[in-house]
Order: sequence, then structure tokens, then C-alpha cells
Amino acid sequence: MRPASWTSRFAIRTRLVVLLLTLAVPFLVYVALSARRQIDLEQVEAGQRMLGMARLTAARLDDHIGDIHQLLGVLRAVAGATTADAARNDAILGSLTPTLPPHINNLAVWSADGANVGSLHPALRDLAIDVRKRAFFQRAMGGAEIAVEAPARAQLNGQLVGIFAMPIRRDGHVVGVVTASTLLEPLQKLLLPEEALPPGAVITVSDASGVVLARSIDPEHWIGRNLLQRGGVADSLRRREGIRDGPSADGIERIAGFTTSERAPWLVYVGVPTQVALAGVRKRLYETLGAGTLLLAVGLALATRIGGRIASPLRQLGDDAAALERGDLTHRSRVAEGGEIGLLAATVNRMADALQERTALLESSRERLSLALEGSGLALFDWDIATDRIYLSAGAAVLRGAEPREATGRTPAELREHLHPDDDAVLDAALRSAVRGDTPRFLAEFRIRNVHGDWIWMQGRGRVVERDADGRALRLAGTLADITERRAADERLRHLAEFDALTGLPNRALFLDRLEQAMARANRRCVPIGLLFLDIDRFKGVNDSLGHAAGDALLMAFAEMLRGSVRTSDTVARLGGDEFTVILEDLHGLADAQRLAATLVENARRTVVPIGDQQIAMSTSIGIAMQRLGEADRAALLQRADTALYEAKRRGRDGHASAGDAASTTHG
Ligand code: GH3
Ligand code: MG
Repeated sequence: MRPASWTSRFAIRTRLVVLLLTLAVPFLVYVALSARRQIDLEQVEAGQRMLGMARLTAARLDDHIGDIHQLLGVLRAVAGATTADAARNDAILGSLTPTLPPHINNLAVWSADGANVGSLHPALRDLAIDVRKRAFFQRAMGGAEIAVEAPARAQLNGQLVGIFAMPIRRDGHVVGVVTASTLLEPLQKLLLPEEALPPGAVITVSDASGVVLARSIDPEHWIGRNLLQRGGVADSLRRREGIRDGPSADGIERIAGFTTSERAPWLVYVGVPTQVALAGVRKRLYETLGAGTLLLAVGLALATRIGGRIASPLRQLGDDAAALERGDLTHRSRVAEGGEIGLLAATVNRMADALQERTALLESSRERLSLALEGSGLALFDWDIATDRIYLSAGAAVLRGAEPREATGRTPAELREHLHPDDDAVLDAALRSAVRGDTPRFLAEFRIRNVHGDWIWMQGRGRVVERDADGRALRLAGTLADITERRAADERLRHLAEFDALTGLPNRALFLDRLEQAMARANRRCVPIGLLFLDIDRFKGVNDSLGHAAGDALLMAFAEMLRGSVRTSDTVARLGGDEFTVILEDLHGLADAQRLAATLVENARRTVVPIGDQQIAMSTSIGIAMQRLGEADRAALLQRADTALYEAKRRGRDGHASAGDAASTTHG
């Protein structure tokens, strides 16, 4: 019972949990997939935002370069008129100082031979610098409208600057160069206000060869470094504009937009760390997954609890049913649940009521039956043929003289040891024919040995009470009764009907029966029988003179003499009155019969019966008849013997005569 209820509890809980997981897992997978999609979208959007910022930055850079271009244009017009009067140029440039933006490091004018001929800081000339080999100078001298060299070291204060140069033309010839150098360090602040950037974002400006001109984070470290071999810079330079993600030059994963400014071949890169860009959506994802997992955990806990709450009353009901099964019919379920389980509990209780009632009825009818059985002296048997076990009611033990006790589980073979060996075949045949269905009922009389060692007669009655679909007997049941007394009474009746009460010899009826059998047997064996017909001589006289009792005594003595004179196989019978017969079998011929008749005549003569103080003698006459070959007619044979007897009487009694032999008479 235990493991079953455990399994049922386990099963209900498991089923609920599986149901929940079946619903929850696809839902969570859906949530995860849509979060993944949102991350991808967010990544694209962040890239677009970064590209927008890069464009804005590039536009500002272009504005800035435009401003410098304009400044250089003005400078060329006023200061570039002469490359000879340095003092004048210094004065003109100096006059511009108040209007210059703070990031302008220096303005200068250079002659065609590379010497300084004007500067915001006249001290520069004291250094006697020759710029003929410098990139900005050569490009401007070469005719580029605006040439840039960045980054470069300022000669006066060593600061990193970008040098913008413009040629001074006179009569179609380049005669000098004007330059404006811009501090690179504050460039990024100028490009984009820091607060407009998302946290962790970086702006880098590099030139066409990948050298950093400005960087919003850690500029001292980065400006002047060539990044061409790092972080996709070469690819960005080639593409000019676009979005990319992956590690940047400093190794940090970034989502970035990049573009190239129009006025200078500079690359503007704005990147935000992937972690920062996706922090929001990731947070939402973790929140969703966390909430989902929490819900799932709560669901699982609820499923387990609900499963337990369903299983517990069911388990209780299982225990209730087990108690009823054990036979505790007063047990009732105390499950107080509502709904279907309550209905089930109520049904179990109603079933128990009905069971109890029916059991009580069964018990009282069983009592009545056992009282009836006790009164009738019958015992019940019930033979389960399939298992070969017999049930015997308590009365069966009583029949055998033992204490009343039911017996179950004995086999028929075990019971046979009490059976009379002569009755084994009879019982077997009766059982067999009932089981086979040859006879509708089982009926047999047989002897068994009781506990005192005496044989008692039993009558078994019954029938096959159950058969399988193929008609094979499954059970045979019925009653056993002690018929010892009835059998004795029958025996007495039979004896009375067949034997003479006075002498105990077979009477006429039994004699005729035996004669018929003997004649038939003789015919089969071709050995004819002989029949002796005897009558006591002058018997009436004894009756008349000494009384009927004396006559009876004489009859008894005569019968005794006959019995003692013949073989036990020969039948001696009293036909009535003083008439007796002897059937003689296995004779060699008439002579044998005559010899025996002579012996009987002699023995009768010797028989003396004491009556009172007298000794009464007797004699007998005997008629002999031999069966003819094939003769079956009793009456004819008896008639011939009777005729022969008559002949013996006629000849003077105390002798014998043979049928068909009127002359032959022997006297003792
Ligand atoms: P017989 O020599 O010719 O045979 O003369 P009997 O006197 O014997 O004559 P019978 O055989 O005819 O007589 C038989 C008698 O036996 C007649 C009857 O009274 C007597 N008897 C018949 N049955 C019984 C009996 O059971 N007991 C006694 N005591 N006498 C019987
Ligand atoms: Mg007689």
C-alpha cells in the first residue's frame, strides 16, 4: 500500500510540475529571444547615434577649419603683401590678438626661403628656423590652397599643434606662406561639449595616415600616435564613413560611428563602450529573466503544494480502502475535502455501509446455514478443481468423530487415506462422471475410517457449480452424510427378504436367483449342475406330538447338518416347511450327486435332536435332478427334482431317487 500511495503523490506533483514547465519553458525562451532581438536593435541604434555624433563632430571640425581658412585668407591679404618687413607683419598679427580664439597658438608669415617674416610671438625669429623641409611649407609652396601638418610640436612652447598653411601669391608666383597653428589638446572640447557624450564615449580625430590629432579621453597619451595597425582604423579610413563594433585602439569593446571631414582628410570616430550602450536593455533583460525565473519558482512551489494537497486526501482514501480491505468494516474515511475528492470519500463511506450491512446479513445467513447443517448432521464440501483443494465444513470432522473444525486447503489425495480401499474405484467413477458432465449430479456411497478406527458409510451428494467457457468443471460442491445406520437397516431388510429367519439359509427367492446364475454359469462352462430336493420324513408327526417348537428345533438341526455336509461353494436353501434344496456345482456327473445324496441321507439319520428329556431322530428323502446340456429353465429342473423326491418318498422314504430313473432307489 505504501509504495503505491507514494507513487500517486509523486505522480500528481510531477504531472503538475511538468505541465508548468511545459508552459513556462517556451515562454522563457520566447522572452530570451525577443530580448536578444532587442539587444541587436539597440546595438544598431547605438551605432546610428554614434555615427550622428561623428557627423556632427566632423561638421564642427569643418567649421573650425573653415574659420582658420578664413583667418589665413585675411592674414594673407594684409600681412602677406610683403615678406620683407617682418616688424610690420609682427605688428599686424599682434593687432589681431584680441579677436583670436584661445586655441590659436600662433600666427606666422614665412618667406619663400623658409625664414620667418612675421609672428604673433616675434621671439620665434630669434630661433632662426628654416621650414623649407616641413610638410606644411612644402605643400603650401606647392600650391595647395590649404595645407595641414598635424600633429606638430610648437617651436616656442613645445605644445602639440596642428599647422594650417596657405600660399602667398604675387604675380602668379608663390612668394611665401601664412600659417595658423592650433592647439590640439583642447580641440576635442571644441569639437563637442563633453556633456553631450554618453558616459564612457570617446571621440578620436586622426589624420589620413592614422595619427591621432585629438582624443577626448587621455589626449596626452594618445595624440601623435599612429593607430593604423589597431582597432579597425585602416578599415575605417578606407570606408570613410560607417558603423562598426569591436575592440577600439585601447582594447575596449565599443559601438562606434565614424566619418571623414570635408575640409581635411581627417577621420572622426565616436565610440561608446558596448557595455554602456547596452546597459539599459541588458538591465531590462535581466529584470525580465529574473521576474520570469521568480514566477517559475513560485509556480513550481505552488504546483508541489497543490499536488501534495490533492495527493494527501487521495492517500488517506487509499489507506481507508486498505482498512476496509483488511476487514475493518467499521472504518470510515475522515477526508473532509470538498469537490470530487469529498464526493469520492462519501462514496467510499457509503460503500463501507453497504459492505457492513451485507456482511452482517451474510453472517446471519451463515449462522442459520451452520445451525441447519448441525441439525441435519450434514457436512459441506467444496472442491476447487483448478487448485485441487477441498474445503470441508466443521461438520466433516464431526462425522469422523473429531471435534468440529473447518478444513481448508486439503487435497483430495490427502483425504483418500481415510477411504476404504474397496470404495476407491466407486468414488472415483462417480466424481469423474460428474466432472465430465456425464451425470448431472455427483452421488456416491463409500466408507471412511473414523477417528476410532471403525469404518463408517458416507453418502456424498453434489454437483458441478462452476464451469469455464469451454465447459470444463472448475468447482464441485455438495454435502456429506453419515449413512452407516441406513446401510445397516438396508442390510437387515435385504437379509430378511433373501434369507429364512429360522435357519438363516437362503430362502426360495434367493435360491431361485442363485439357481438361475448357477445354470447360466454351468452352460457357459459346459459343466451341468445337480439339484438335490430334500424333504424331512414324517415331520408333521413331530409337530403334532411334540409341538411346533420341537419341529423348529428339528428344522434348525437339519439345516445345520446340511450346511456342514456340503462344500461352501454349494448353495443350501430352505424353500419352505420342511423342504430344502442343495445346488451342486462342479460335478463330474450324476454319480457325484448320488454320492452326496447318500451322504446326506446318512447324516440325517445320524442327527439326533434333544427335546426335553427325549432324543428325536429324523430321516430325509432326496430327489436328484441333473441340468440338461444348455438347459436354462429353472422350473423344469426343479420340477424334475420334485418328481424324483416324490419317487423317493414313494419308495419308502430315508433314501434318494434320481430324475428319469424311477427304478433306481437307494436305501441307506
Ligand atoms: P412326508 O414324509 O410325506 O413328508 O410326511 P410329513 O409329515 O413330513 O408331511 P409334509 O412334508 O407334507 O408336512 C410338512 C409339515 O411341516 C406341514 C407343516 O405343518 C409343517 N411345517 C411347515 N413349516 C413349519 C415350520 O416352520 N415349523 C414347524 N414346526 N412345522 C412346520
Ligand atoms: Mg416332510
